[in-house]
Amino acid sequence: MLVGPGLRAAVVLGLFGLLAGSFTNVVIYRVPEGLSVVSPPSACPHCQARVRPWDNVPLVSWALLGGRCRDCHAPIAVRYPLVEALVGAVVAGAGWRFGLSWTALAEAVMAVGLVALGFIDFDHMVLPRRVVYVDLALVALLVVVAAATSGRWGALGVAAVSGAVPWALFYLLNWLKPQALGFGDVRLALLIGFGLGWLGAAYAFLGFVLASLLGSVVGVTLILLGRAGRRTMVPFGSFLAAGAIASALVGSPVVNWYLSLVHLH
Ligand SMILES: [Zn+2]
Repeated sequence: MLVGPGLRAAVVLGLFGLLAGSFTNVVIYRVPEGLSVVSPPSACPHCQARVRPWDNVPLVSWALLGGRCRDCHAPIAVRYPLVEALVGAVVAGAGWRFGLSWTALAEAVMAVGLVALGFIDFDHMVLPRRVVYVDLALVALLVVVAAATSGRWGALGVAAVSGAVPWALFYLLNWLKPQALGFGDVRLALLIGFGLGWLGAAYAFLGFVLASLLGSVVGVTLILLGRAGRRTMVPFGSFLAAGAIASALVGSPVVNWYLSLVHLH
């Protein structure tokens, strides 16, 4: 079924996703610098010329301008349109997977926050508190609305426990080995556990498993390539973000397979 409610929701949410992607770029570049995300308006980092509204259309403007500033012709990093496309795709994916629903919005908002946090952690090895908390507050609000409109209060309880358990485990790990796991990851575990837990505890579990696998594969690859040693710091938050987004959007076959095993035996 290619044309259906899933496709319609994917297109509608995907367009909002592109706009969210534009804002995600602002968050990624400004929050670590301690700058406001609302003012001043976007400007070229090279010549400081204000970005005109019609030059700020996600993906389209970058392509039309040939990846250069209209005023000084300095190149604009390809990462801007890539982040816009990534966020657009992730939000469209939430629409495809969950239709036009409160759950789709909750998972989309979680995923957008995670893309921002994943890039910030990759760039700066920090997970800014205000990004985690603002995203967590929005996700919690949307999940509560989803629970209220569907009457699935039990699932809300599962989400709360799915957030609290990894938070407590990460808290303990951070207390035992703060150099191995920063406190930013502790807060992030709460956001991811809760957001995925709304889909079911198995999704939260899968998200953390995928993050660990991804982190291990990348870490071992870097060591084999001689690009990293055992003590090299890795942005674990970036792996947590990627694992969580994958679990929410494409994790259902794995979760269903796992649950069928548990029920069969
Ligand atoms: Zn410029």
